[in-house]
Amino acid sequence: MSAPVLVINSGSSSLKYRVVDAERAEALAVGLIERVGDPKGGRLTHTVDGERHARDVAVPDHAAAMEAMTDAFAAYGPDLSTLDLVAVGHRVVQGGARFGRSVAIDDEVVATIEELADLAPLHNPANAAGIRVAREQLPDLPHVAVFDTAFHLSMPAAAHTYAIDRDVARKHRIRRYGFHGTSHAYISREAARLLGQEPEATNVIVLHLGNGASACAVRGGESVETSMGLTPLEGLVMGTRSGDIDPAVVLHLERTAGMDVADVDDLLNKRSGVLGLSGHQDMRDLVAAAEAGDADAELALEVYCHRLRLYLGGYTAVLGRVDAVVFTAGVGENSPQVRERALADLEVLGIELDQQANEERSSAARDIATPGSPVRVLVVPTDEELEIARQAIAVVGG
Ligand code: ADP
Repeated sequence: MSAPVLVINSGSSSLKYRVVDAERAEALAVGLIERVGDPKGGRLTHTVDGERHARDVAVPDHAAAMEAMTDAFAAYGPDLSTLDLVAVGHRVVQGGARFGRSVAIDDEVVATIEELADLAPLHNPANAAGIRVAREQLPDLPHVAVFDTAFHLSMPAAAHTYAIDRDVARKHRIRRYGFHGTSHAYISREAARLLGQEPEATNVIVLHLGNGASACAVRGGESVETSMGLTPLEGLVMGTRSGDIDPAVVLHLERTAGMDVADVDDLLNKRSGVLGLSGHQDMRDLVAAAEAGDADAELALEVYCHRLRLYLGGYTAVLGRVDAVVFTAGVGENSPQVRERALADLEVLGIELDQQANEERSSAARDIATPGSPVRVLVVPTDEELEIARQAIAVVGG
């Protein structure tokens, strides 16, 4: 049986789309429209049957981008009208405390997503704009919202509460929400499958290490702790984001360095992380520079891996029993150097990496722990679009 879903990720300046056959776990078409809103025009790429089509497109807004997408399907296929799409799944960044699961979209859901914009000013308005246009252009299909935060709504209060004045926190909805939930949900389930266990009986620590990076402690299929917080800035060291710092650094910069809110926002989100430390944002470049003897790159790599180890220790304490540590996303799936440094000498936590298995290149889900390691170490490729498609089907199907 085939069950194609159109998955849409509408960002502030881009529209990513994909037709995913959730039953067969394969992509039938993949597209990207860049520079949405740029008066100089944008660029569309659409890949189908291994062939990549590219063209310049005028995309002043999300409505135009969605039209460019429909045109691309008409020109290059597959034909959307004969595909028997089951649903349209929309990625939404911030679901607040309201959405603990994926939901069928109606006017009220769209309004709530817009209303949560103060928590995700860059993302939610763009997500909502994409949803509005898609519902207009594809009115006969059910639309489903899949939230980056939803998986983490199961975190206990002790984990999601910041120790600040409770009235201020309540008034401004300040708490830890966590992100990458679609990936953490998918990976923790796939990890259980690889271990031959039921998700409900499996405890894992997922390390989603892409450009953005987050850790998640999953107990019995539920997120009980994650490293991102109110925003994706908290937690691990990332490509350009600082992750955890003393919040007083912000005050210090504003008081003594003459920086305003926008300057600090830019510094911590775009000019920090391994980029800020070394000049290299891409992990491949960073590792190569460190191996060539660049001291800044070496320190950046050490800071990055030291933070990972802190979280591994903390999350082991949170979970009590850990069945596996799971690496995923660009860095996690592809960097043996990061995996090795992050897990070196962690026998005390029951983690023993098999050096040879770690070095082997593969795109398959795999176990890279020594045969005797009490905690397994897994590498599992993430597939957020497939997870969105599956969730959309689950919602539509009942
Ligand atoms: P995003 O968060 O943008 O979705 P990805 O999960 O695609 O990110 O990860 C992107 C990052 O993965 C790149 O910045 C790069 O550092 C890293 N990466 C990709 N391929 C490799 C590789 N072969 N070795 C090490 N790092 C890699």
